[in-house]
Amino acid sequence: MEDTSIIEISENAVKGNIEFLQKHFGEDVLLSSVVKANAYGHGMKSYVPLAEKAGITHFSVFSACEAKQLMKIKSPRCSIMIMGWMNDRDLKWAVDNGVEFFVFEPERLNRIKSLSGKCGKPALVHIEMETGMNRTGMNMKELNIAVEILSGNPACFVLKGLCTHLAGAESIANHVRIQKQLSRFMRVCRLFTGKGLVPEYRHVSSSAAAITYPAARFNMVRIGILQYGYWPSAETFMYYISKKKEKKDPLSRVISWKSRVMALKDVKRGEFVSYGTVYLAQEDKKIAIVPVGYSHGYSRSLSNQGRVLIRGRRVAVIGMVNMNMLIADVTKIPSVKIGDEVVLIGNQDDLVISVASFSEFSNQLNYELLTRLPAAIPRLVTN
Ligand SMILES: *Cc1c(COP(=O)(O)O)cnc(C)c1O
Repeated sequence: MEDTSIIEISENAVKGNIEFLQKHFGEDVLLSSVVKANAYGHGMKSYVPLAEKAGITHFSVFSACEAKQLMKIKSPRCSIMIMGWMNDRDLKWAVDNGVEFFVFEPERLNRIKSLSGKCGKPALVHIEMETGMNRTGMNMKELNIAVEILSGNPACFVLKGLCTHLAGAESIANHVRIQKQLSRFMRVCRLFTGKGLVPEYRHVSSSAAAITYPAARFNMVRIGILQYGYWPSAETFMYYISKKKEKKDPLSRVISWKSRVMALKDVKRGEFVSYGTVYLAQEDKKIAIVPVGYSHGYSRSLSNQGRVLIRGRRVAVIGMVNMNMLIADVTKIPSVKIGDEVVLIGNQDDLVISVASFSEFSNQLNYELLTRLPAAIPRLVTN
């Protein structure tokens, strides 16, 4: 049995990226490695041990479910932080197991209080505040209640962190909004410290802010996409590189995604390819059928848009991406054979598919494509 595609994870790339990021942010900034969504599709099981080897000691996930999965993979010296979803039972599990978590409603603090009495272990909380994103996070009224509860029950809580999330630091268009969020954040930090509630960590930055707003690093950053070798946006990369003498991307992509040519076919000029009338052959064509489709995580929005590498050449994905197959235009590769390697993401010879599409205007496509890579595709760790 051979899977229709395989995902390779480069150990050297992980090492290089994390060492670069830690050096860039400074040794006194804790780099929390964000491994939600199966480590952005890289596979938590393959990725986490490599990140640990590269020096990571703190991981962030979205849900308690992911935290439980991570608990089985990570080494005991590493910490876990849940940034989002957990139910009451998970809350008890997290407290019992020393797992850190965001608190974005005062009611959760009350529930912990009643729990903590029973298990005798303090909860490791990160108080998340609303500063302008209007997603999760406590408003001023709720924060004041939180201050009361924390101050009144020092045995139940360890204030691990004060935090918020910035709404779009990857674009300069959001600059004013981000600045407002930062000043609100600092105001609330002062409110807490003024009451004797001093957090171990202050953190607001994901990848984009950690690069573009050095003052927003405080003593912890939550880094997802960068550690996998992708910049959150072209703007973020431009900001970084404009300040450097050497104009070379310091990051390397960790993932490669490979399949094979399953079938070849000649198509006459004037014929349509794949479903509907999305692609019309303007000349006689040779096409390659590749056994990867949207059910394998290759987005339908890459229909007529995607690029793949075959025999060291970059070729176009033509027509609709199907459930299990896509079609590449190999007219210019006469030597192509069934069984040839097809690179969907990654390198072949000197070429690279970094973003799966030729239209690099939206890196959002990267986040989405990566996180949708099914867990069932085998992961292979390489050098
Ligand atoms: C996903 C996430 C991050 C990481 O974002 P990147 O842009 O991938 O670095 C950081 N913080 C929170 C709250 C997140 O949900």
